[in-house]
Amino acid sequence: MKCSRDDRFSSGELNRYGNIELSPSSGVLNYAQGLFEGLKAHRRGDGRGFLLFRLEENAKRMQMGAERMCMPSPSTDQFVHAVKQTVLANKRWVPPRGKGSLYVRPLLIGSGPILGLAPAPEYMFLVYAAPVGTYFKEGLAPINLFIETEIHRATPGGTGDVKTIANYAPVLKAQMRAKAKGLTDVLYLDSVNKRYLEEASSCNLFMVKDNIIATPATDGTILRGITRKSIIELARDLGYQVKERLVSIDDLIAADEVFCTGTAVVVAPVSSITYGDQRYEYKTGAETVSEKLYKALTAIQMGHVEDKKGWTVEIE
Ligand code: PMP
Repeated sequence: MKCSRDDRFSSGELNRYGNIELSPSSGVLNYAQGLFEGLKAHRRGDGRGFLLFRLEENAKRMQMGAERMCMPSPSTDQFVHAVKQTVLANKRWVPPRGKGSLYVRPLLIGSGPILGLAPAPEYMFLVYAAPVGTYFKEGLAPINLFIETEIHRATPGGTGDVKTIANYAPVLKAQMRAKAKGLTDVLYLDSVNKRYLEEASSCNLFMVKDNIIATPATDGTILRGITRKSIIELARDLGYQVKERLVSIDDLIAADEVFCTGTAVVVAPVSSITYGDQRYEYKTGAETVSEKLYKALTAIQMGHVEDKKGWTVEIE
């Protein structure tokens, strides 16, 4: 779908996956005027259709981001329709149940030319998809994280709480450094005090101490994860106290359990955190809080239990 800056997106069309045409002076290529979303479609048990999770939340997050990035955005109906059409058009690529899902990537970009620093005159909203395996080969596999002290992904007043493409540029170097040390991902600190944890490169952070769950409050520098929001609700349903608050390095070091949440990782238990030259270990495996929450969430996402919350969207 395309539209001009002061217009609204009208109806879209289905195209084969392929290159798109962009002006060299497009807003997205020059000033990073772009937003994306990520969702997963799972095959339903009866083989008749597919399940998507909290689709309207992704639409709303894109609309919120578009406001921040001075872009027009698709309406919730247009977003939902485009994602559903993309899943249906890629039916045959959805992996068998239990073997993975179809990852769906809605993308909103400033496609029109703009040389001076200003919002682009034209925009493009497109959705593409690719099959992905389960993030971990065998159910829940623990990850190892590194606390990054030099590179920050967000700053107060910046764009850390919207899913703009620009937020992923500063983390590439940090991620490569962590990978070179044999670690899975990076935990970022706030850029002001440099002692409060924010999130990882593409997932939110949780810790458990004495059976109380804490997660960094979303204060404008952390992405409002849809999995994070769902996990907070499910944990409270299971009787846990959940606090959204500042989480310091000391809090994290003293935690019993640490885990991350996101569309890609779902719930990922953290087995170790490296901070400077110290390595701290955490509880993982059977009977952990993260395992209980993983089971509760995936049961809804995969359609193993009745969805009393109305979070799943069925398409066939
Ligand atoms: N933080 C960042 C920076 C992310 O890119 C993502 C992935 N969207 C998340 C957190 C998790 O968000 P969600 O649960 O909506 O996938």
